[in-house]
Amino acid sequence: MASEFDLIDNYFCGQQSHRDDVILAQGDDCAIVSCNPDQQIVISTDTVVVGTHFLADAPPAWVAHKALASNLSDLAAMGAKPAWVSMAITLPHQDLAWLKAFCDSFFSLANQHNLQLIGGDTTKGPLAVSLTIQGIVPRGSALLRSGAKDGDIICVTGNLGDSHAGLEVILDTSKRHLPHAPELERRHFVSISRVALAQQLRGIASSCIDISDGLVSDIRHIMKRSGVGASIDVMALPVSNELSAFSSCAESEYAAPWQYALCSGEEYELCFTVAPDLLESVQSLSNEIKAIGRVNSSQELHLHRGGERLDYTSQGFDHFRES
Ligand code: ADP
Ligand code: MG
Repeated sequence: MASEFDLIDNYFCGQQSHRDDVILAQGDDCAIVSCNPDQQIVISTDTVVVGTHFLADAPPAWVAHKALASNLSDLAAMGAKPAWVSMAITLPHQDLAWLKAFCDSFFSLANQHNLQLIGGDTTKGPLAVSLTIQGIVPRGSALLRSGAKDGDIICVTGNLGDSHAGLEVILDTSKRHLPHAPELERRHFVSISRVALAQQLRGIASSCIDISDGLVSDIRHIMKRSGVGASIDVMALPVSNELSAFSSCAESEYAAPWQYALCSGEEYELCFTVAPDLLESVQSLSNEIKAIGRVNSSQELHLHRGGERLDYTSQGFDHFRES
């Protein structure tokens, strides 16, 4: 049986990228990094726990991706460039095959973003991974939740809803035979990190958040911090063909793809606002940016379907049922 130190040496110290601004990585009591006076460091922590964020038999490569992608997504939401990460990992037993697959996936994603693992903690107990990620922005340029203004356009990246459909497949094995179930299950774990695109939104977007709890929930954070209301056209919500095919066959609390798109969590796409005269330049950055609504001064969230106002309450989705 390998000692804790052998485990750390063999699995957490070998595969990382080496950044010039890391003075000291693993091996001492703390890591040391250096930073520039004209930059600011942006920091976030996110944890995944077995039984809450993934099942015990989930593929280790997917668990690693989900753990790191949720942290990268927080940096993206601030427009930050990833730099350093620390990992507190709790393992129930020494399963070296599990650990290898986990680490290969973790470092593959980290290295794509020039993100260096600089330290951590390894303990025994129920499986959990907690990452503290740090990124860099030019001083004063971080994207915040608080800058949305009346009249701004609300945009999202990518498609919404796939992650929840994937979760349904994971939790109900009878859904495994539905159209595109394997792709949607994978999408639940393996999201695209919008890190590069988000950095291009600095100085352009008036506010930004990543979609981790679901669009209707996360847009409210922008509304609250910015002191504004929002109106969303549910027919403008971007959904994948896979989700459309899946939802037409699935027995779900959500009857239509747009209902998934409104409520699906752990999407790790961005929701941001932009002044109307900047919309064209924003959309020229990527064809994956879609306008879905407008900021208003009402302090409320209004959902529209075509011209019709939907009677949405946070209590439930019965009002959304397709007739
Ligand atoms: P300490 O007892 O000082 O907390 P540890 O024995 O916990 O030190 O860790 C030894 C070194 O290995 C430290 O530099 C720590 O940052 C690093 N380390 C431990 N676990 C991990 C991990 N999961 N990922 C990356 N580095 C780790
Ligand atoms: Mg320690």
